[in-house]
Amino acid sequence: MGKLRYEPYRWMIAGIGGLACVYSVSRLPLERIDMRFLLLTIMTVIVSSRISIKIPRFDTNVTVSDTFIFLAILLYGGEAGILLAAGEGLCSGVRISKQKKPVTILFSGGVMALSTFITVWITRFAFGPNDDIYRHTPSLLLIALCTMALAQYISNTGLVAVGLAIKSEQPVWATWNKHYLWTSITYIVGAAAAGATVVFVNNIGFYAMMVTIPIISIIYFTYHKFLEDIKAASAQAEQAERERAEQAERHIAELSQHIAEQERISLALQESKEHFRNAAFHDALTGLPNRSLLADHLKLAIERGKRREDHLFAVLFLDLDRFKNINDSLGHTIGDQLLVAIARRVEGCLRPMDTVARLGGDEFAILLDGLEDFSHAIHVAERVQDELMMPFNLKGHEVFTTASIGIALSTTGYDQPENILRDADIAMYRAKDNGKARYELFDTVMHTRAVALLKLENDLRRAIERQEFQVYYQPIVSLETDQIAGFEALVRWIHPERGLVSPDEFIPLAEETGLIMEIGHWVLHESCRQMRQWQLSFQRPLMLSVNLSGKQFIQPNLIGQVKDILKKTNFDPRLLRLEITESVVMENAEAAAAMLHQLRDLGAHLSIDDFGTGYSSLSYLHRFPVSTLKIDRSFIGRMGEGGENSEIVRTIMTLASNLGMEVVAEGIETEEQLSQLRALKCEYGQGYLFSRPVDANTAGLMIMAKQPQDITPITTDRAILNAIPDTPYIN
Ligand code: C2E
Ligand code: MG
Ligand code: MG
Repeated sequence: MGKLRYEPYRWMIAGIGGLACVYSVSRLPLERIDMRFLLLTIMTVIVSSRISIKIPRFDTNVTVSDTFIFLAILLYGGEAGILLAAGEGLCSGVRISKQKKPVTILFSGGVMALSTFITVWITRFAFGPNDDIYRHTPSLLLIALCTMALAQYISNTGLVAVGLAIKSEQPVWATWNKHYLWTSITYIVGAAAAGATVVFVNNIGFYAMMVTIPIISIIYFTYHKFLEDIKAASAQAEQAERERAEQAERHIAELSQHIAEQERISLALQESKEHFRNAAFHDALTGLPNRSLLADHLKLAIERGKRREDHLFAVLFLDLDRFKNINDSLGHTIGDQLLVAIARRVEGCLRPMDTVARLGGDEFAILLDGLEDFSHAIHVAERVQDELMMPFNLKGHEVFTTASIGIALSTTGYDQPENILRDADIAMYRAKDNGKARYELFDTVMHTRAVALLKLENDLRRAIERQEFQVYYQPIVSLETDQIAGFEALVRWIHPERGLVSPDEFIPLAEETGLIMEIGHWVLHESCRQMRQWQLSFQRPLMLSVNLSGKQFIQPNLIGQVKDILKKTNFDPRLLRLEITESVVMENAEAAAAMLHQLRDLGAHLSIDDFGTGYSSLSYLHRFPVSTLKIDRSFIGRMGEGGENSEIVRTIMTLASNLGMEVVAEGIETEEQLSQLRALKCEYGQGYLFSRPVDANTAGLMIMAKQPQDITPITTDRAILNAIPDTPYIN
């Protein structure tokens, strides 16, 4: 739009300028035009317009041509000035216009002609004929020159500014202010220079004035230099400004980069914190909360329970039945998958506010918070059990499992998370004892039992220090010769208050607390020492059977310990039988095979205790270097009742003889059992019929009493004992 109007405007100014020129030509006093005028014209057109000064910041060129135009006006009258201005304008137009467009060139000439026309007529109107102005008094001359300069300045820049304003569609004032405000000085300087020149020319003659040219040049170049300096300073300032802006931009870029980096770091930090928090409070395998997180939730539940009496909660302690078998038979990968699948199924049975945590191994705990009534806890236990009872399909294996669950309710008034967990655990054990795959509620009887157990545990710890243990010996008799072939060492605890405590009561506790290691070590050492003494005293190769608990068996330094004891007591390893139960062997099949081979390498024999009651894997037996099977007393006890148990015993004996093993029948109580076993050609027997387990003294007497006729008993006198050659068995 602006461009559309700009074009006609320029043509209009060119036209009016043209008219001004026509008018000026008609009124030009030709008689006054001389060589000097021609010289002035040439200088104006060729030289002056080339010496242009770019006004810093205003994007405008000012030439000294104005000085020459003013000079022409003052020397040859306004019309000469107008024509000179028009000529100069056209030449500048040609020079400035890159495309040499006629409108640009003509507009340039028109502007110059018209503005000079206006200037001429304003000064003529105010001060009379232009070429007479120099005759005025200096002060009037000065005013006239200033008027001329201002008129030329305003009209010239005004006409151009209007054009630019039309083109850029900006207000005229803004355009003028932007481009020309500052150029007024140039006009004033130009007018002053022209005035001075005219005064000189008229007073001292034109050629004499030539002398002043150097002075004018100096003034001009000083002015030029002044503007150049300003330009340089301005350029410098602009450069500095640009650099500052660039630096600022760089700083901003650096800063934003820094901020981005910071954000990235803090995000990573946040992520790792979350990861850490997650790892610290979750089980890596199932992703379930772990014991710590459960304890936190329990604490909150306990707090809520303290504040509000009707706030009920319950803890379900869940332990899988026979998970170990699955793990051992199908491998750990399937075992892990089963745990994950169980976790998901249990989660599916719960409400969002409940927590299920994996405590480790195959143990899970569920916190049911904010219960309406406790029947809901039982309901959840039943649902979980039903869910877990459905088969799991893991990598093509159909796996069946069940869980035993113990339930503890908030009514007991717990104030520590571990207490309610402990009670749920106790109830879970009760569920296991009562046949597994069921749930039990914790009750006060259990609590009392738990407390009693705790006391027993404390006592047991002290028993080791106070040496309250004794080894009892039960003879193992050769059924063929009726002679004592050896003894089974059975530990006894003489409790200071309770008297004799049965191993069935304290061995499981000792196993649970790890105290069995010390107890077992002591029993082996003591019984080896005692047996060695009897061997020497009675000059008989008596066998010794010692029980090894599962915990002892998986102890890494077991071999070292046995070796050490054999060496210290100088006991012949070939006379030692270590008894382990079937389940201990089967639960650690791989490790057991290796361990048994190492024990066998020491020369010791191995017996499978309570054979027939455990996890029967007869097919595995040949893999283990076992020399004796001890038939469990439950089979022997029922032998008299009918043929069936005798058949079992017979089968075991056939199996043993096929595998090259000896058989010891445990728990022989009656003559009938004995005769049946004899008929079955059972090698050894052990039971109350021969003797109960007895203390060392009684056992010593028993050996003496049962001493075969041809062997003279030797007293236990030290001097005689030492006389018997005692060659070491273990080096
Ligand atoms: P076990 O190794 O099977 O020991 C045989 C158990 O049967 C003994 O019970 C013995 O007293 C009992 N017994 C023997 N003959 C008869 C009989 O004719 N009738 C009946 N009813 N019982 C008979 P005890 O001494 O109470 O030991 C029980 C279990 O404790 C042992 O079973 C063994 O597993 C464990 N035990 C005993 N001493 C130790 C020990 O030093 N270390 C380890 N780890 N376990 C031990
Ligand atoms: Mg035994
Ligand atoms: Mg046994």
